[in-house]
Amino acid sequence: MRDTITLYQHGTLAMLVAGLFEGTLPLGELLEHGDTGIGTADSLDGEMVIVDGQAYKVQGSGKVVPLTPDTKVPFASVHFMDAQETRSLVGVTDEQLKEQLQAEMKMDNVFVGVRIDGTFSHMHTRAVNKQVRPFPNLTAATRVQPEFEQDQVSGSVVGYFSPHLFQGATVGGFHWHFINTTRDFGGHILDFTVNQAEISVQVLENMVQHLPITNTEFRAKNMALDSLNKDIDEAEH
Ligand SMILES: [Zn+2]
Repeated sequence: MRDTITLYQHGTLAMLVAGLFEGTLPLGELLEHGDTGIGTADSLDGEMVIVDGQAYKVQGSGKVVPLTPDTKVPFASVHFMDAQETRSLVGVTDEQLKEQLQAEMKMDNVFVGVRIDGTFSHMHTRAVNKQVRPFPNLTAATRVQPEFEQDQVSGSVVGYFSPHLFQGATVGGFHWHFINTTRDFGGHILDFTVNQAEISVQVLENMVQHLPITNTEFRAKNMALDSLNKDIDEAEH
């Protein structure tokens, strides 16, 4: 039976902040733990979106590339989609939606998987550029990020709300990515306006944190915890 109450995360955001961009888990293994999710690919090569068991990366060039099971990822979160509640959205912005969800769902202390399918009158994204060794830290790597915008685009928003308590392991608050229906536009979402869409939300009961224990760089890394909050806010919001 599919486990639909668990968020499975490989790697931590703190590892990316520290410049650990090497892929450490094959996508094929990640997808055993979920068919829906977000993350990044080896060498921080783009914004990853997983919908219906297929992963794509949206690269800094804007190009969308389907990923094969042998692709390794340094950081990703997945779950098996099983919408507990779906409803229609019309004309709402991402900020309005966040406020509505927080007011109605009392979600501050839980992980929530979100998927929105439909048409968006506006979608504004960005995508990180692939990095080369020696890797910089995340703040430096994300200082320049290409942005993309489309109007009247149909597709899927996939992402999570995570309790702020877990900032560091992941991004506290909402973190969501987009991919359009024709699979040639997407990225890390900056803002959007829904035209008409269906939203499903899934409150997740467990969070499994998987670590790349055989990666020697990870094992030896000294994480700068004092500046972690600031670094994440700078790179991810
Ligand atoms: Zn992102």
